Amino acid sequence: VPVSRIRNFSIIAHIDHGKSTLADRLLQVTGTVQAREMKEQFLDSMDLERERGITIKLQAARMNYKAQDGEEYVLNLIDTPGHVDFSYEVSRSLAACEGALLVVDASQGVEAQTLANVYLAIENDLEIIPVLNKIDLPGAEPERVKDEIEEIVGLDCSGAIHASAKAGIGVDEILESIVHLVPPPEDTTDKPLRALIFDSYYDVYRGVIVYFRVMDGTVKTGDRIHLMASGKEFDIDELGVLSPTQVQVGELHAGEVGYIAASIKAVEDARVGDTITLAKAEAADPLPGYVEAKPMVFCGMFPIDADQFPDLRDALERLKLNDAALNYEPETSSAMGFGFRCGFLGLLHMEIVQERLEREYNLNLIITAPSVVYRVTTNTGEVITIDNPSTLPEPNHREKIEEPSVQVDMITPEEFVGTLMELGQDRRGEFKDMKYLTPGRTTLIYQLPLAEVVTDFFDQMKSRSRGYASMEYQLIGYRENHLVKLDILINEDPVDSLAAIVHRDKAYGMGRALVSKLKELIPRHQFKIPIQAAIGSKVIASERIPALRKDVLAKCYGGDVSRKRKLLEKQKKGKKRMKSVGSVDVPQEAFMAVLKLK
Ligand code: GDP
Ligand code: MG
Repeated sequence: VPVSRIRNFSIIAHIDHGKSTLADRLLQVTGTVQAREMKEQFLDSMDLERERGITIKLQAARMNYKAQDGEEYVLNLIDTPGHVDFSYEVSRSLAACEGALLVVDASQGVEAQTLANVYLAIENDLEIIPVLNKIDLPGAEPERVKDEIEEIVGLDCSGAIHASAKAGIGVDEILESIVHLVPPPEDTTDKPLRALIFDSYYDVYRGVIVYFRVMDGTVKTGDRIHLMASGKEFDIDELGVLSPTQVQVGELHAGEVGYIAASIKAVEDARVGDTITLAKAEAADPLPGYVEAKPMVFCGMFPIDADQFPDLRDALERLKLNDAALNYEPETSSAMGFGFRCGFLGLLHMEIVQERLEREYNLNLIITAPSVVYRVTTNTGEVITIDNPSTLPEPNHREKIEEPSVQVDMITPEEFVGTLMELGQDRRGEFKDMKYLTPGRTTLIYQLPLAEVVTDFFDQMKSRSRGYASMEYQLIGYRENHLVKLDILINEDPVDSLAAIVHRDKAYGMGRALVSKLKELIPRHQFKIPIQAAIGSKVIASERIPALRKDVLAKCYGGDVSRKRKLLEKQKKGKKRMKSVGSVDVPQEAFMAVLKLK
């Protein structure tokens, strides 16, 4: 098809507002996927995504649509991930489009993720088509929500489409709007090839499969390509489109969306945001906007059974093939033995990797509390980064510590403003702004340390607002703060994996809370166990776990053997998630205790 009849668009929405349902409906109505082969929510294919109801990885689908003007159009839907951890990927997939459907649940209204996504769409100069979804619900208030979008986003909603992705209402109107409102791509087929990578995944047989949008020029099967950021070169084995399964084609031109396989070993070599050009006829400049995604949150991962260390290393190596943003380095802990220090884009990314390691690779891990990356100026003036609290230089060896700060935007019903402001204050937040959006709804803006957000901020916000508030955050830079290292000593030995970097004013409260939590979590042993919190050599809080009074086996001494065996087995099971630290068995929860202090 000529470029004038191509439309590239994506769907942006807050979680649960109906993005996946609408995508499914579009695939079905255009006959791209037959109803009978239609799995529910075709685009969300990973198990984890399904379980969590989130879209982690973006994919694309090419639809043929015969419009009311009698012409055949090609509509490329580029799906975006639905979580703040992956906002860079969202921005790159939007950069591959000319338009976006803004889906808002008409029974809910604008939420934090709606806003964050709309801003990314505006930055990318997209034509935005508002869609009021779920109008089949009795509680739908499309007029109120329209006002809200106009008020908050500043987007003209006079032409907003009333739709129900579930009931199939408004779907034709949506397709016609895409054809008429979204501009066609520019015809730049004559220019040297530049294609934008917006997604990639590792396939065991073909190597990395790269999804891209051709911005300029033409790409053909067999071409030798050059990736402008990674500097690597590959020969294309396979070129195709996604309909939505992969279908091979001979060539793709400016404006089109497709995939290549080129025996690429790891996604790292073809990262999201990189520019594909031809080795023989290179473009002068890469496409703008490439950023190497940097890990923001780090944790230690240690096999419970030291024999599993090589398995953990292999598993991380394999996950890394598919996940350029995952970072890891061997770490040796005096308490935990050999493991890895791993870096992630955010908390969700961290949870996903942990779950995959345990589920897909059958590993039994102890995971330490997440830490952000601190910037430390030493007393010799050198600036170093610290992602592991136990490696913080001693006070007399450091000049200052800076920590990453974020801006958090919360959208909430008015009645929860008080309790959310308390939360912001409590987390070292600086109040920035509060706006009444529409009657009854408010946006609250705080700036606070990322470290305070990566603990249980999101859960707290949800529970304090009975699930009604939503939030997004973005990094705003590093700020100096009075931070200290809080050490935890078990049985008089400092446990490096329990060390935390905390604000000076909070250290005492946290130290007390932490030792009493550890007292609860660590089981009794045959001997008494002192637990202490310390700053430097100064102990600021201490507790003692009393010794077991009776041997568990004593009471069935002489009793029947099977009962004794059962008891021992029970004990063993209880031990599964324990790590021996010195002579003390410490359960997994203890390493996360710092997150669970109220
Ligand atoms: P996503 O998180 O934006 O991808 O949202 P989903 O498409 O997964 O939808 C979230 C929930 O809303 C699911 O239970 C859908 O069945 C439901 N849903 C989606 N669209 C509609 C709609 O138009 N009407 C109603 N009543 N429910 C809908
Ligand atoms: Mg979804």
